[in-house]
Amino acid sequence: MDSCPLCQPDTDETIWADASCRVLLVDDEDHPGYCRVIWHAHVAEMSDLTPADQRHLMNVVMATEIALRELMQPAKINLASLGNKVPHLHWHVIARFVDDRHFPDAIWGKLQREGVRRNGPARAALHDALVVALTELRAG
Ligand SMILES: [Zn+2]
Repeated sequence: MDSCPLCQPDTDETIWADASCRVLLVDDEDHPGYCRVIWHAHVAEMSDLTPADQRHLMNVVMATEIALRELMQPAKINLASLGNKVPHLHWHVIARFVDDRHFPDAIWGKLQREGVRRNGPARAALHDALVVALTELRAG
């Protein structure tokens, strides 16, 4: 779809991908542990996928969460799938810290403070942690 930004080439860094979906590390200096998991095909809802594909996508979301927890030790992980503005199936997986700019609101919410700046995870470490977590989830 020409008008859909998630059907265009990605501007954020791809951490991992397979034939179905991809994980990007979002370039957000306020929220350095912010990943987006995007289904390749232009579908709007989780229930548009087959049950096997739903399970696969959730495994990738979970593996992303596990990798971010391992590498960043956040206070909380935020998971969100909205798609009101971009109705192309994707999940936000966001490491949150009590001293980040928006905590305890959503990162799209009211600014709470200047916020402490952190380094994001190294791309290779994030990739490797995600692969390990995904392998364990599939075996589990
Ligand atoms: Zn799309």
